[in-house]
Amino acid sequence: MIITRFAPSPTGTLHIGGVRTALFNYIYAKQNNGKFLVRIEDTDQVRSKTEFEENIITGLHDMGLKPDADPVRQSERKHLYLDAAHRIIESGQGYYCNCSTERLEELRNAQMKAGKKPMYDGKCRDKGLEKSENTVLRLKTPNDGEVRFNDLVRGEVVFNNSELDDLILLRSNGTPTYHLCVVVDDADQGVTTVIRGEDHLSNTPRQMHIQQALELSALEYAHLPLVLGENKKRLSKRDSVTSLDEYISKGYLQTSMINMLGRLGWSKGDKEIFYIDDLLKDFRIQEVQKAGAVFDLKKLDWINTNHLANLSLEDFIIQLNPYLDELGIKTSNRQNAETIIENLRTTASTLSEIAIDLIPYFADIKEYDQKSVEKFIAGSKNILEYVLRQLEPLDQWTEQALDEVLAKCQKELDLKTPQLNQPIRVALVGSVKSPSLGLTLSLIGKELSLERIKKGLEMTF
Ligand code: GLU
Repeated sequence: MIITRFAPSPTGTLHIGGVRTALFNYIYAKQNNGKFLVRIEDTDQVRSKTEFEENIITGLHDMGLKPDADPVRQSERKHLYLDAAHRIIESGQGYYCNCSTERLEELRNAQMKAGKKPMYDGKCRDKGLEKSENTVLRLKTPNDGEVRFNDLVRGEVVFNNSELDDLILLRSNGTPTYHLCVVVDDADQGVTTVIRGEDHLSNTPRQMHIQQALELSALEYAHLPLVLGENKKRLSKRDSVTSLDEYISKGYLQTSMINMLGRLGWSKGDKEIFYIDDLLKDFRIQEVQKAGAVFDLKKLDWINTNHLANLSLEDFIIQLNPYLDELGIKTSNRQNAETIIENLRTTASTLSEIAIDLIPYFADIKEYDQKSVEKFIAGSKNILEYVLRQLEPLDQWTEQALDEVLAKCQKELDLKTPQLNQPIRVALVGSVKSPSLGLTLSLIGKELSLERIKKGLEMTF
């Protein structure tokens, strides 16, 4: 059975590169009727935080990437790593090394000066040192030959053993290193396939050496291309939003994030809109590209627009509600709340922006756009007064009736459409952003519309 795992380090909130890794692991497992597991790699006691772990688990859950077993935590499994280290010593495949940090530093500097790759020179390899408080445990890595593996994304990958030094398995304080933990855990969890970021590619031959020393079976690997920012550099917190939470709080749908991330490094012809079921059907890990994949915000906006449009009105409202709540907007005070939302659901590409655009329909205008006020309202006293007089007696406050009144006003005042409409629009919603004017008036209702036009008049000179 195929078993994959997502192995985040809880040193920060769940970032979108991580979600993509989790997604590909999830899909590959499900496509093969396998299992998707999660392992919290919290051995860095200083940087690992419970709140990050919670954030990661919740984020995966919200993305629908539910693991098939409870996540395990490396911090609770030290005995397994020590057992494995013990087996390596017993089988003569490890050795204790007491080289001082100063010596290692000098060695490193000398190698760098000579234009060589810095690596441990194996000084203690055949010394047969005993364990002490100054010793680390190193793996005896073969000096010759090569490590080969078939990467599902990159094809055949070869590393020369001569490029790999004798890596440390246990530190002098007895704690296991990352490489040892990963190998032990993957075996213990029954993992068959490691799908992770390309930044781990050079770790793979090292981990394979540990596997061989422990007589564990070889795993299948897929190293995913880096997620790049729009500057084509590795996506980083410094110049982009990387945290999943932030995208959700901006009002990108969970399904849009899945769509966007599923397309990061993989495509299927011209098809752009995918839901998880499509990915489960169409995604092929072997089709993932090697080149870095750009996380393009405009693309995400476009994807979100499509996913929002695909929601029924009822589902759209369910998704929108938290964003309205956030703004303190109550829709229950308007009888035509659903009609308003239906007509404004395409004003923007994210739910938080749509919620902001809805403010004038459910609450007082928070802020008038000053430029629009100056440009359209300030000098429009006559227009607003005239329109107000025409609208006041109107009984039938329907879009059609309003359109007729507006057309009449336009003709009588001899104005172009925007000359008439923009001042009224700014008075009604505080900006020039609203649907057609007749519709806007009808949605806002007679009483409030007249009140706002009067308020607009106060801003004229
Ligand atoms: N904990 C590692 C990371 O967060 C992942 C290790 C792995 O996938 O093997 O980058």
